[in-house]
Amino acid sequence: MAGKMPTYKSALLICDGLGDRPVAALGGKTPLEAANTPTMDRLAAEGATGLMYPISPGIVAGSDTSHLALLGFDPFECYSGRGPFECAGIDMDVRQGDVCFRVNFSTVYDDAEHTPSIDPETGALKATVQDRRAGRIETGTDQLAAALNGIEIDGVQVQFKESVAHRAGLILRGEGLGQNVSDVDPHAVDTEIWIAKGADPASQKTATVLNKFVAKSYEILKDLEVNKQRVAEGKLPANVALPRGVGTAPALGDFNERNHVKAACIVETGLIRGIGVYLNMDIVDVEGATGGLDSDLQAMARAIVAALADHTFVLCNMKGPDIAGHDGDAQAKIKIIEAIDAAVKTIIEEGPQDLILAITGDHSTPVDKGDHGGDAVPFLLHGPGVTPDRVTAFGEGPCGAGSLGTFVGQNVTPMLTNLMNVQPKFGA
Ligand SMILES: [Zn+2]
Repeated sequence: MAGKMPTYKSALLICDGLGDRPVAALGGKTPLEAANTPTMDRLAAEGATGLMYPISPGIVAGSDTSHLALLGFDPFECYSGRGPFECAGIDMDVRQGDVCFRVNFSTVYDDAEHTPSIDPETGALKATVQDRRAGRIETGTDQLAAALNGIEIDGVQVQFKESVAHRAGLILRGEGLGQNVSDVDPHAVDTEIWIAKGADPASQKTATVLNKFVAKSYEILKDLEVNKQRVAEGKLPANVALPRGVGTAPALGDFNERNHVKAACIVETGLIRGIGVYLNMDIVDVEGATGGLDSDLQAMARAIVAALADHTFVLCNMKGPDIAGHDGDAQAKIKIIEAIDAAVKTIIEEGPQDLILAITGDHSTPVDKGDHGGDAVPFLLHGPGVTPDRVTAFGEGPCGAGSLGTFVGQNVTPMLTNLMNVQPKFGA
């Protein structure tokens, strides 16, 4: 009998790269500890805290692998590269088993000195990269992408879609495609495009198709009107598509069914958006959410409040702290954390009264390192059913004394669905 068991809604606010290490210039405090965060401190006092290793202790997590873990998946098992999530992030139809890449529209030299040719043995393009971003192309890429989308190579279907600026996504769909292929993008100018090789027979099939795709992209793109126009204007033509970041789309299923929730995803980077799309969350794109330090976090907060009206679970990622961390800028990190605190105030004041709110980071991005770290990140849990601990401030040091102890990212979604009272019993 179900009885009168109440169910609750929850929001998981992931402050990208929130975690940090003691900073000498801040008197040994971390940016979060140095920031003025009255709302998150109050929630820490009313709720429970702890430290979380996003993947496992010491593992330096990427944003994608970490989000997969926080959403209950084992990234070591399901993750083979960012390609599938990049493609899903631009609303491509990514299906399990697809081999996916992100792509740069680029320029190869095409003059008397460097004439592109096709390698008769592999079908690969032999050409030299002039510019990896095709003269920072901004417009017309939809027409370029349309010309490549839908072609077929050796029985493998090609899907291709433009993203922002010079970026795009590529999906190869067919039987028996492996993912262990080497790069074609040399990541350098005045260098020949590399010929992809596969580490096993299935991956060699992918490599062969990939090499032929690059050659085909040159043959198709070079003569398109967009490129003739660019050349006439003295700009570099986007005469080749260079894929990278290969990954096979994993079997993750539907997040809603798996967790007995109705989930919305409110984020500001394509990669995390792609995870939400791939897990079948409802995507809410927020105007003003730029993914930069100037992002309109109040607009994101209002979107979370609105989404909670007809969803039971909201995943939110605010990107700013990670950017400040990569910049090595402690003051900028403090400032964006204070803006997040103000956004949390809006969520608390305007959202459902009995909201279960978790606030944490997807990894540390220590300002003194300027890149992701494998440190534990602070975690805060607030709402009905949460027993308060003695911690009264949200920070790396205080959370180390919290009642939740130290745990890993894969624990987070079950911790939330438990408090929501929607998780079925394991066992009798
Ligand atoms: Zn991240």
